[in-house]
Amino acid sequence: MQEVKASFFECDVPTGDGRCSDKACPCPEVRIPRGGGYLYIEPELVEFRREYPRLADANRAMKERIDRDFASKGVSSYITRFRVVPLLMCEQGARLRKLDLDVASADAKHWWATGLAPLRPTPLLSGRPQSQDSLSEAPSPSLAPGPEPSLNQEHYQRVLRVVLQSEPFRQTFVAAKGHVAAALSAAQNCSAFWKKEFNTQDGYGKGAGFVLVGAMLDNAFFADAPYSGSKLFNGADLRSAKLNRSIWLNMEIEHANFTRANLHEALMLHIWCNGAKFRESDLSGCEFYFVGAEDQTPIDFTNADLTNTTIHLREPLPAIFHGANMSGCRIKLDYNNDFQMKSSKKALDLLLNSLTQEQRSALVGVPGSAVASIGSTDEQSLWARIRKWFSH
Ligand SMILES: [Zn+2]
Repeated sequence: MQEVKASFFECDVPTGDGRCSDKACPCPEVRIPRGGGYLYIEPELVEFRREYPRLADANRAMKERIDRDFASKGVSSYITRFRVVPLLMCEQGARLRKLDLDVASADAKHWWATGLAPLRPTPLLSGRPQSQDSLSEAPSPSLAPGPEPSLNQEHYQRVLRVVLQSEPFRQTFVAAKGHVAAALSAAQNCSAFWKKEFNTQDGYGKGAGFVLVGAMLDNAFFADAPYSGSKLFNGADLRSAKLNRSIWLNMEIEHANFTRANLHEALMLHIWCNGAKFRESDLSGCEFYFVGAEDQTPIDFTNADLTNTTIHLREPLPAIFHGANMSGCRIKLDYNNDFQMKSSKKALDLLLNSLTQEQRSALVGVPGSAVASIGSTDEQSLWARIRKWFSH
């Protein structure tokens, strides 16, 4: 077996050509010829692979981490999802992430030839992934005088029927209360059910193209199963939708648009939400627990109302809070071990750095002095609220 030098880590190389594997990239997973493309090495990946430079060791360590979490924490282990190798992407994806193209391309070339990637993050042109300033100053098409809230009624009725009335779905998420095995096997059924109903093969991984602009969905329950592959709400258009007191569980809503939506007292638990837009949304009294995937496009809370909102943090997720009302907003860190503690503190730093002084001082129970951990007790109360939904 070849020696892995300390300054590189080992990754597998496809036998044929590659494909753009960056979910944030709008390209149709274009083919990348051998030797080409751009390699994105995330800082978190470097931290992890420093400990496990050999691929087999990294895979084993990750599997042990996931098994341990499954055994000890049940459903909350869904948030353990972690890449052990860098992302290969096309030029469009590399430009969107503002990678230093020369370095990323040289890294890719070296990786194709040797199966080794350098043990340091890919340098970014702006110093940070997706410079928040440049993003927030860009004119937002969603704030232009858009179409009148309108609704594709037929589509909406089908969504409602499937989400709210389908037995496989209800069973899955009742089962998911703490039993991962049950939830995962049921998730298989759900996935098949969704595909039958919506024929989402074309939307696989990209969302089903739901247009629910202005939909009346107060108190609705939305759920999906991690790894089911349905990802139906990725990219969904929910502008001006009424979603007060709605419950969202284990969903991917990446790049979904909630501009001007009402989410008063909604609960969003274990939500993959990179790139989701909540511009001018009412998130007052809302409780959310967002998690990140590889795609680190910021969540956009521009001019949103986060009065008395509770934000649970475990992973650093870039977000834009320009003009957001943070009055009475509460931040809670969620961790069960040192690794998660480090990560959630980093998440907190990132969040506080995205706020103005005025916004920071509007927070209550500001972590840094006494930081609350939601631990298992609070998670219980979140689940209690979900059980209550099913019991009435
Ligand atoms: Zn691409």
